[in-house]
Order: sequence, then structure tokens, then C-alpha cells
Amino acid sequence: MSGLGERIDLEIRTGGPMSVARYMALCLSHPRTGYYRDGDPLGAGGDFITAPEISQMFGEMIGLFLATLWQQMGSPGRIIVLELGPGRGTLMADALRAAGSVPGFLQATQLRLVDSSATLRSEQAARLASYKPEWIDDIAADPGAPLLVVANEFFDALPIRQFVRAGDGWHEREVGLAEGRRIFGLSPTPVPETSLPEPLRHAEPGAVHEIGLAGRQAMATLSAHVARRGGAILAIDYGFEGPAIGETLQAVRRHAFADPLEAPGEVDISAHVDFGALREVALAEGLAVPALATQGAFLARLGIAARAERLIASNPAAAEAIAAALDRLVAPDEMGTLFKAFCALSPGLYPPGFEP
Ligand code: SAH
Repeated sequence: MSGLGERIDLEIRTGGPMSVARYMALCLSHPRTGYYRDGDPLGAGGDFITAPEISQMFGEMIGLFLATLWQQMGSPGRIIVLELGPGRGTLMADALRAAGSVPGFLQATQLRLVDSSATLRSEQAARLASYKPEWIDDIAADPGAPLLVVANEFFDALPIRQFVRAGDGWHEREVGLAEGRRIFGLSPTPVPETSLPEPLRHAEPGAVHEIGLAGRQAMATLSAHVARRGGAILAIDYGFEGPAIGETLQAVRRHAFADPLEAPGEVDISAHVDFGALREVALAEGLAVPALATQGAFLARLGIAARAERLIASNPAAAEAIAAALDRLVAPDEMGTLFKAFCALSPGLYPPGFEP
């Protein structure tokens, strides 16, 4: 057992069972031993692979998205591009290289990054050095300029709480200990029904509802900045449009599903993102939120097929690999439908990639 597992067990033994959110937060971001503190989980040799690691085309389409919005905003002389959880920096390197073909965009751009992993921050530093990125710890500070936010597979890594419907109402799911092993259980006292979204209150016993408070908080903070300074937030993740019943917490290790209660800090734990909840938060701050797009539709509207053809024309030997990568990103039975693109932005802007 890792040291983190022992610390979690000690906390349960002394303080009682902990919420799923507390468990996730400790597993992912514990200052010394959390999953996203050291090591590089991405890629073929790691635990999972993400869209920007599949092909440069993914980041390039996002570069186009950013530059187009900047132009729509009247090409301001200074803009903050903020990426949440940039991983290896691949997405942003591809995006800024592509957006560099739009005159003035790079000169106006100040790049800011948020990442809790020291290992990944140094990879970002290496890959993005020419854009002189700045790492920030706190997204709450006013950016001081128009803001374009990008987050790919970031919101799914934020802690969620789970509520389970029992005979006598809704109970929070907790992580406890039984005979020395970590187990899921329910908090003995039901939560007030009003804690649940109205349409779900009378769900069948056994139903599970997830609430991502950290994600909502991040979206609210960034939406308030965009409402004040102008700009947009783009979040791509696997997710759905809630409020909904369903359990999506999952653990992955070396490209296979794992038990989320075993080996804390060594497996990636994530949950599908409730884009319906993020939408409510952004709307409440006064932003416009176009209909959620599937990743496949979003990339298609931005012209990824034409980009693939150009890449193939300039490197015919790679034709098969490029076509396969395109398929992985957009095909409905690959990432195309499960992953969604969400955008919240200043009213009056028209985000490319989304339905008009
Ligand atoms: N966007 C990248 C990486 C996705 S993995 C890609 O698509 O390849 C999730 C990223 O978010 C990692 O870089 C991880 O270090 C970062 N991260 C996870 N939880 C975080 C948190 N609470 N605060 C800041 N960064 C976090």
C-alpha cells in the first residue's frame, strides 16, 4: 500500500468515513503523493492517452478557435490565453503554432497555465518556452485583460460528491473501512431533499446522483472574469448534460479500468463532467452558452478533415497514421461522441465549432 493509502485509512479511523469528494481530492492532489503531483500519466507508456497526444490536428483546431474569437473581439492588443491542466503542453504548442498564422495574435497573447503536477509543469516549460508562459496557482485573481480559457480533460479530474437514493431519502456516499479494507458506504443521515435537483428528487432507490462542486466553482470564477473582461471558456471532456442519474466515477491504470479504492494515488480517478451544471453556472454570470457539441462535430466544423488532407498531401508516407488519428478523434465509436465541447462566452461572440 502506498503511504497515501495509509494516511487515508488513518483519517477514516480517527475521523470516520470521508465523502467521495474528499477521497478523490486526496487521491489526485495530495501535496506529496497524489496522482497529479509527480510522474507523467499520459501517453502509451502511462495510464491514459488524450486527444492532443493522438494528433497535432486537435491542438491546431483549438488554435483556430482561439484566433477566430480574438479577431471577433476586435483583435485586442493584449489577451490572456489560460490553459487549465495543460498536461505535456502539446495542445497549446500545436494551438499557438497554428494561431501564429493570424497576424498579431501571438504578439497580443500572454500565456498562463495552471497545473498541480510539477513533472508536467516542467514538460510544459520545455515545450512552450518560446511563448514565455506564466504559471498561476490561483484562478481567482482578476486577469486584467480579455480572457480565452482552454481546458481539455481538466474538469473530469476535479472531485465529485455522490448521493445515493435509499428507502428513506438521499444519502451521501462515503469511503469507510471494514475489516481493514476500504469500502463504499452511505452516510447514516439522509440529506435534505432540497439538496438534489428538483427533477431527480423522487428517483428509484439505488439511483446515484453526482455533484461536482469544484468544477462549478472554477467555472463560476472564470465566467465572472469573462463577463467583466470579455472572452470565452472552452472545455472539452467526456460528459453529459445533467441534471442526471448515473454513476460515472472511474479509475484507470495503464489503459485498463481499476478499482478506485485500491492503490490511491497510483491510479487515475475521474468522473464524467455534468455540462448542464457548468452551463447553469456560466449563464448565472451573464455569459452566453451555445448548445453542447460532440467533439466530432466541433472538430469537423473547424475543418479537421481538410487539415488531415493537407497533412497527408505533404507527407504521403504518413497517410494511414493520419487517417487513423482523425478517426480516433472524430468517429462516433471512438472519441467523437463520448467527448463533448462546451463553450461559455461573452454575448455577441460566435464560437467557431459550435452550432450557430
Ligand atoms: N490537457 C492535457 C492533460 C489532461 S490530464 C491533455 O489533454 O493531454 C489532466 C491535467 O490536469 C494534468 O496536467 C494534471 O496535472 C492537471 N490537474 C489535475 N487536477 C488538477 C488540479 N486540481 N489543479 C490543477 N491542475 C490539475
